[in-house]
Amino acid sequence: MFDTLTDRLDGVFRKLRSRGKLHPKQVDNALGEIRTALLEADVAVEVVDDLLARVRVRALSEEVTKSITPAQQVVKIMDEELRVTLGGEHRPFTLGGPTPAVILMAGVQGSGKTTACAKLALHLKGTGRRPLLVGADLDRPGAVEQLRTLGRETGIPVWSEGRDPVRLAKNGVKEGARSGADVVIIDTAGRLHVDLDMMRQARRIRDVTKPVHVVMACDAMTGQDAVVQAREFMREVDTTGFIITKLDGDARGGAALSMTAVTGRPVFFVGTGEKVGDLEPFYPDRMAGRILGMGDVLTLIEKAQGTVDQEAAAAAAEQLLQGRFTLEDFLVQLREMKKLGSLQDLMKMLPGMPGGRGAMKDLAAAVDDGQLRQAEAIILSMTPGERRDPAIISGSRRLRIANGSGVTTADVNALLKDFEGARKMMRTMMGGKRVPGMKMPARLPER
Ligand code: GDP
Ligand code: MG
Repeated sequence: MFDTLTDRLDGVFRKLRSRGKLHPKQVDNALGEIRTALLEADVAVEVVDDLLARVRVRALSEEVTKSITPAQQVVKIMDEELRVTLGGEHRPFTLGGPTPAVILMAGVQGSGKTTACAKLALHLKGTGRRPLLVGADLDRPGAVEQLRTLGRETGIPVWSEGRDPVRLAKNGVKEGARSGADVVIIDTAGRLHVDLDMMRQARRIRDVTKPVHVVMACDAMTGQDAVVQAREFMREVDTTGFIITKLDGDARGGAALSMTAVTGRPVFFVGTGEKVGDLEPFYPDRMAGRILGMGDVLTLIEKAQGTVDQEAAAAAAEQLLQGRFTLEDFLVQLREMKKLGSLQDLMKMLPGMPGGRGAMKDLAAAVDDGQLRQAEAIILSMTPGERRDPAIISGSRRLRIANGSGVTTADVNALLKDFEGARKMMRTMMGGKRVPGMKMPARLPER
């Protein structure tokens, strides 16, 4: 997500950084390039202009132009203002009011409503809720069946009886109360466009079910049109917030960046894949960081916590903090990363490092290619001392390790190189701080 945008912005900032002192003209040039990049990513033009106007005022202040690191300041300002555009503070998805709490899912056809209903239900179930899914999309043949399939997959009950969507929705809430559900999520019919018919139906369902949330599912791939849809829907039905779907695709994603600025309503979640687990709470600050190529370590860590061995992860993190990252930790990391599935996606969340994205991809490829077992064998053939301090692994030790693990010395060398790369990455993640037990250059090279 946002790959192209991030690369473009990275280029602009890199150029700025190479300058030293900043003149107003250079700031304006950079802002012009950022504007083009944002527009090409489909961010709504009024949102872009408003954002950059705020950045410009601050970037041209004396405080910035006179500082020793003006370019860094501009990046920081951009980060802060982008966060504001994305909604500022994270707004958690809360369910107050009477039980069962009703959530109405709306949006155009194909925007990902049905999938989002199941994802949201699973998410809420994970927080201890007892959801009921109600299928009120009777327009699209198969929509209810799709919901039932998702319900079976997630172990969440699905209810859909009757022929009139409005009455069905109302009865669905009753069924929820009767069966002891504390959340009822209603999937509704979409149209090809946001039209009056669709909005009238959504409004009627809203009036009879009294939802705490009317959530609009928005496809990130819709581009600028999504903003138009959101605005109309907001006016006619009112929305409490959004789920931006399909952010995993090669969507330019601008819709996601524009929604809140245009409607004043938060993005609650983003959908990042077709699977029911692919839903992430939306954090404006993390998203801003991700877009600006500063990584999203927190989301990465949360994702890791959901999947990996907690103790192993904690131990590795502890090692990291201590600045002792050994081959044993590397092995643990490789194993845990393997469990996380698509490593490449995760790597994109990590902050940039001297080798750039290429280096991360190499590391990811090393794991993805099924070389994990070989890496394991090699590391297990080392003595504890060697694992702690690979610097002592001389030529003869390499041969012994290679023989012991049934590989060639070239394989051992490759593994040590991967390890070095990972260690460098860790070092960068820690902000280049000097840490005990690690030989560091006096100054880290600028990336
Ligand atoms: P609806 O017509 O609004 O109910 O949309 P659906 O929930 O049926 O989704 C339409 C298509 O988009 C389906 O093929 C889904 O699998 C897919 N989809 C939904 N959400 C996501 C997402 O976050 N990522 C990806 N890659 N696909 C999604
Ligand atoms: Mg549907």
